[in-house]
Amino acid sequence: MISRVKGTQDILPARFTAKPDAQIERWLLVERVAREAFRRYGFEEIRTPIIERTELFERGVGAETDVNKEMYTFEDRDGEMVSLRPESTAPTVRAYSEHGMFNQAGLVKLFYIGPQFRRERPQKGRYRQFWQIGVEVLGQSDEPAIEAEVIEMLYWFLMELGISDTELLINSIGDGACRPAYISALREAIRERLPNLCGSCRQRYETNPLRVLDCKVESCQVHLAELPLISDSLCDACGNHFSEFRRLLDQRGIAYKIEPRLVRGLDYYMRTAFEITGSSLGAQNTLIGGGRYDGLSEILGGQPVKGFGFASGIERLVMSVPESTINLGVNRPELFVACVGADSRDYAFGVARRLRAAGISVIVDLEGRKLKKALAVANSLDAQYSLIIGEDEIKSGSYVLRDMKTGEQTSLRESEIIDTLKYRRL
Ligand SMILES: [Zn+2]
Ligand SMILES: [Zn+2]
Repeated sequence: MISRVKGTQDILPARFTAKPDAQIERWLLVERVAREAFRRYGFEEIRTPIIERTELFERGVGAETDVNKEMYTFEDRDGEMVSLRPESTAPTVRAYSEHGMFNQAGLVKLFYIGPQFRRERPQKGRYRQFWQIGVEVLGQSDEPAIEAEVIEMLYWFLMELGISDTELLINSIGDGACRPAYISALREAIRERLPNLCGSCRQRYETNPLRVLDCKVESCQVHLAELPLISDSLCDACGNHFSEFRRLLDQRGIAYKIEPRLVRGLDYYMRTAFEITGSSLGAQNTLIGGGRYDGLSEILGGQPVKGFGFASGIERLVMSVPESTINLGVNRPELFVACVGADSRDYAFGVARRLRAAGISVIVDLEGRKLKKALAVANSLDAQYSLIIGEDEIKSGSYVLRDMKTGEQTSLRESEIIDTLKYRRL
């Protein structure tokens, strides 16, 4: 049999997989809570295509970044270069501009939930098709209140999922006024230490020196600690923006840690950068990352637009949701209808249709099994009840409702069945 592509995974009903990040019930929960959080804070959904012109990401993400090198890129039949999206911020900003959303008086608050693609080296918990939930707040304002409100929303979201023990890390990475001078001072300082740094540091020194600060290699740490920090070079505007952001977090009672070496992986970020890490996956792990990207639209050839947003890998969120929050039985059928005798089947279809109209999930035995076998199937589907319909039941208008857990059987009319199942659901 043909198998799935390396680095991808099937998301399945939990009864077919023991892998938590492959269980659809967990995914549905995370998506449902995310949508509810976004609704409460006034975000609207956007769905952009999975393929975009390669140029969008080469300009947006930067040609020399890891993300760009890991893109799935191919030449289309008409010679155009297209890529599977490795992230959704650039596509969202493109759509914002393409559909004239900048004509809106206020902020445009968008969210997305969808797959992204990066051809990463295969490793545990990393997929080449991975899913992200994210938001983008776009418009003419860069008020730090935007940042604070998005983070407040994220805390509601995490709390609702039962993900506790998280930490918020924040930093300001400056802007066009103060960063260039800092970058050249940083580059100078890195150059002096270059022989002692790892290969990836040496490469980043050329392409994106800010990311050298991000290096996790043990032997680099002592040298990285000596490098200048952006926080000492912020201009007044960036400094004020950052302190107002912190004040608004304090006001909400949201704890944070200033992490002066926190940078974002992509070049277009400026000022606010943040991460929320969680400890539930063993080691401290980034669950959510985001930042401000006021210059991105212009890089893409659009109008000047200010933006702030985050992205979060659904796989990691799904793995972090504690067992206690999850109801793996959320999709199990409420009722399995078993028919005794061929004639009762036609009759059962009508009963099933009316029960479904009343809001009950019903599976009818379509395969004409004998009662014992039919009940075994109901068991393997983990149905809560079975309904047994035979000739006698049709005559009397009462059917046998069997609780599949206790084996208890009661004879009930249709309206009583509906009441019983509705009552159970309350
Ligand atoms: Zn290094
Ligand atoms: Zn600045």
